[in-house]
Amino acid sequence: MPSHASITLQDVFAARARIAGRVRQTPLVASPTLSARVGHPVSLKLECLQVTGSFKIRGATNALLSLTEGERRRGVVGVSAGNHGRGLALAAHRLGVRCIVCMSRLVPQNKIDGIKAHGADVRIVGDSQDEAEGAVDALVADGMTMVPPFDHPAVIAGQGTIGIEVLDDAPDVATVVVPLSGGGLIAGVALAMKAANPSIRVIGVSMERGPAMAESVKAGRPIAVKEMPTLADSLGGGIGLSNRYTFAMTQALVDDIVLVSEKEIAQAIRHAYWQEQVVVEGSGSVGIAALLAGKIGTDGHTIGLVSGRNIDMALHKRLIDGEDVEVSAPSAS
Ligand SMILES: *Cc1c(COP(=O)(O)O)cnc(C)c1O
Repeated sequence: MPSHASITLQDVFAARARIAGRVRQTPLVASPTLSARVGHPVSLKLECLQVTGSFKIRGATNALLSLTEGERRRGVVGVSAGNHGRGLALAAHRLGVRCIVCMSRLVPQNKIDGIKAHGADVRIVGDSQDEAEGAVDALVADGMTMVPPFDHPAVIAGQGTIGIEVLDDAPDVATVVVPLSGGGLIAGVALAMKAANPSIRVIGVSMERGPAMAESVKAGRPIAVKEMPTLADSLGGGIGLSNRYTFAMTQALVDDIVLVSEKEIAQAIRHAYWQEQVVVEGSGSVGIAALLAGKIGTDGHTIGLVSGRNIDMALHKRLIDGEDVEVSAPSAS
């Protein structure tokens, strides 16, 4: 039995009921410019307008609400200076659950401040993500619960609630295009889509620079890839060599994975701003990038999931002004 059989459509519906009123039901908007480009109706699911600026609050909220009373009293811990850290911090703060986010000394101050602003304790530990993970193990040994960013049933079910919203707003959906990193988002969305109608196509999009899930699917097992600087910084990092859920679910449920270049990502951020009038981060824009580049074959209503907006606004300004920005330092996610 495939391991994802332990996560069902019922879990996604239960997540939706649990997190209702605590996260935004984000708008699905038609994109005339992308529709003209692709030759079929294209709509954008604007998770960039979600609380905390990305969909991660959905999975984090569902995971916290799924804990026992005792677990909630002892608090939660996460390792992420990026969108998962923000989502977990705010979800915990709102539920009165203690939250510690561990990160390395290399994380820039604005990201630390962002997490603190959402009410979490930030613990700076060591010089690498690995050392940060060592600190988490100690906190877990003391009774706190670790909430991982993607490879967890409650997180996957929480992200899957996006799929139910898409089905409600666009019953004629034929193809869904989903930014892909660790695969929690696409696993949840694909579960909801395929349960409703197995002929709905689910396409993952990652960046050319370090696409861990694409390489793992090609290899037939989770493998590590070299992390490289990219405009899609929220898509960086591996899928975990002992991945339990998202790898198998991606293998079983995702129809194709396409990769986009840094130039295509920059172009998508510009398109989102000038044509759709939305601010998106690189990772949030990769679906638009793939559609603009003609990399998604589609016939029928196509949904581009725009997953987040947390971009450095000075970088955003340079990009929309047309500058060819080459990101050099790996940004901590
Ligand atoms: C985390 C994240 C993703 C990827 O989600 P996974 O569940 O890791 O595949 C995509 N876009 C944004 C903005 C994110 O924060």
